[in-house]
Amino acid sequence: MLNTQKRQLVWEDWRSQLKHRITTVEQLREWVTVTPEEEEAIAQCEGKYRWSITPYYASLMDRNDPSCPIRQQAIPQLGEFKTFANASEDPVGDTEYRKTNRVVHKYPDRVIMLVTEACAVYCRHCTRKYHTTDLEGTYFEQNEALAWDQDFRYIHDHPEIRDVLLTGGDPLTYGDEKLEWIIAALRKIPHVEIIRIGSRYPVLLPQRITPEFCQMLDRYHPIWLNTHFNHGKEITPASAQACDRLLRHGVVVQNQTVLLKGINDNLKTMRDLLKKLLKIRVRPYYLYHCDNVTGVSHFVPTIETGRAIMRGLQGYMTGFAVPQYIITTKLGKIPLSEQQVHQQEKGYLLENYRGQTMTLYEDL
Ligand SMILES: *Cc1c(COP(=O)(O)O)cnc(C)c1O
Ligand code: SF4
Repeated sequence: MLNTQKRQLVWEDWRSQLKHRITTVEQLREWVTVTPEEEEAIAQCEGKYRWSITPYYASLMDRNDPSCPIRQQAIPQLGEFKTFANASEDPVGDTEYRKTNRVVHKYPDRVIMLVTEACAVYCRHCTRKYHTTDLEGTYFEQNEALAWDQDFRYIHDHPEIRDVLLTGGDPLTYGDEKLEWIIAALRKIPHVEIIRIGSRYPVLLPQRITPEFCQMLDRYHPIWLNTHFNHGKEITPASAQACDRLLRHGVVVQNQTVLLKGINDNLKTMRDLLKKLLKIRVRPYYLYHCDNVTGVSHFVPTIETGRAIMRGLQGYMTGFAVPQYIITTKLGKIPLSEQQVHQQEKGYLLENYRGQTMTLYEDL
């Protein structure tokens, strides 16, 4: 049984990886010793939440350790079904800022476009869990196939929009042809200066980052890509190669990590991740405080945990290894790092990474 499945799988072919995604406990047992809790959570997902795991991502899992960071991100957990205070489906207000089926316009000069609700792996901590993972819910009014005219027209009619971020779901779930069609349509709008792609496929399905895909992007610069590594274990020869390919085609690759309780919410793990990102030339951009999303709350750490981690990074590592620690709210993204500059009656009290202080006087 094992072997018919695996025999047909062509490891380097992303469509084959998608086709052979793990979606049953039996398939999961080929990779890990499934715990009774995991099995129960998978049963509870039935009719409620999607789950699926690419064979590539499953191959990173620890067979015997249920606390493995890869397992916790991909295998359903009972915490998803617990009720938590203040949790909501859309704490960041995407739906309030939606202007068309796909366009969310929250900040003055940039929009996101929710181009799909599909992903190769349904991350258990997804901030758009309602849109991607919930079997009943989606932000789409109708469906993904609804005509795109209105979305492009909205961007066209708002000359203040100079930055369009394709997100979802994972936009790279589409084939190159459809993606090129979207990107080319945006490139026809003169005021759109930069196009960004938010994709976790360098981490979950690095086979998707083919030379042909990168060559296509290379024709539409400036293109930036933000990906989502959460743990050093995710930095593998395959994910490194995917990022290298993008970089060699002129695509700037940055990383957005989500701070997740029990996965990466300690200084050692975070430093290890950031060092490894620099080695593959991926620039840490944001460290997101985990949003209190329904079904995700069991991953939310305290803000003090995040601030303590940030205190252990700034000054101890180079500036470009240190992400900005951010909480996303209905009012937008808000930095959570502590102030190290305090205005005084005369001058400013400055505090360095070791807690030493000095006063800077401005009168020259
Ligand atoms: C995060 C986000 C952006 C992009 O924000 P940057 O700080 O420029 O990376 C744009 N629109 C929405 C709705 C977002 O949530
Ligand atoms: S790949 Fe991104 S959008 Fe898809 S489930 Fe994971 S976090 Fe959510």
